[in-house]
Amino acid sequence: MTASETAQNLSFVLEGIHKVKFEDRPIPALKTPYDVLVNVKYTGICGSDVHYWEHGSIGQFIVKDPMVLGHESAGVITQVGAAVTTLKVGDRVAMEPGVPCRRCEPCKAGKYNLCENMAFAATPPYDGTLAKYYNLPEDFCYKLPETLSLQEGALMEPLSVAVHIVRQARVAPGQSVVVFGAGPVGLLCCAVATAFGASKVIAVDIQQSRLDFAKEYATTSTFMPSKVAATENAERLRQENGLGAGADVAIDASGAEPSVHTGIHVLRNGGTYVQGGMGRSEIQFPIMAACAKELTLRGSFRYGSGDYKLAVELASTGKVDVKKLITGTVKFEEAENAFKEVKAGKGIKTLIAGIDV
Ligand SMILES: [Zn+2]
Ligand SMILES: [Zn+2]
Repeated sequence: MTASETAQNLSFVLEGIHKVKFEDRPIPALKTPYDVLVNVKYTGICGSDVHYWEHGSIGQFIVKDPMVLGHESAGVITQVGAAVTTLKVGDRVAMEPGVPCRRCEPCKAGKYNLCENMAFAATPPYDGTLAKYYNLPEDFCYKLPETLSLQEGALMEPLSVAVHIVRQARVAPGQSVVVFGAGPVGLLCCAVATAFGASKVIAVDIQQSRLDFAKEYATTSTFMPSKVAATENAERLRQENGLGAGADVAIDASGAEPSVHTGIHVLRNGGTYVQGGMGRSEIQFPIMAACAKELTLRGSFRYGSGDYKLAVELASTGKVDVKKLITGTVKFEEAENAFKEVKAGKGIKTLIAGIDV
């Protein structure tokens, strides 16, 4: 038997910048009778995980104590609490990795993603899902239908992020949607917007390889910005795509300042702009255009009521293909390689396999 098989709950722990280790931790005990224990089978790595690994912090979230990484996971239920009614041992589930307090004002208003006391995986001080076992309340586990694999299950996290963004944008049938950034979340935004009935979906990125993938994936066209003023790029975007006076919706999934500018300028009067990408915390902003066009501006943060449920529906009915985004899987013991690959911009979504019971 290998060390990872004999360990009771091997976990992938971030100790400091570029300092990771495997640690055997106790198997988590169910916190309430409504909790379940999940044997984590696959975990996707995203920009935020890599950011903690590289910088030890994101904004005000600073890794002070060793923290288990990972938050995009799916697994199999190995234990259920006494009050659990919807799940049983052996069920395959997508794991929603943030548990709200259920008591604060946003929680009670139904916007639990804005919870004042959120316990979110791999956001300090809360441990992530890159462990053999992870504890969750039953209502944060979504049973995977037969049509979805556990690998696809791990993609329900970024797909839920995209569902939330596209819902924030109120995308309606027949609309035109421009998505800035063709990474996993941007690509999934394109797919969800298409599923919501958008008739034009245009992906914008500065990497040709990403645009090539986006073109095959879920867009009606793609756009490579030039090194000119944002107003000029917006003008060319409109002309090349027959957007007339402008797009109905612009979504930023890049966090890049030029994308924000172009997004505001490409919109028609009365259009909707949603900020989904996280880049620099402060940027210049074309506030006059936003005012004069009477734009609707919305933020988007993680996912809330019904987003995971819809993500599973969209994927299991084939309206959104998440399988195409999975470009590699590494063994648990090689977890750090996944971080290096994501950092190097290799592939689209790299998964880390879990440790079987
Ligand atoms: Zn993520
Ligand atoms: Zn709350």
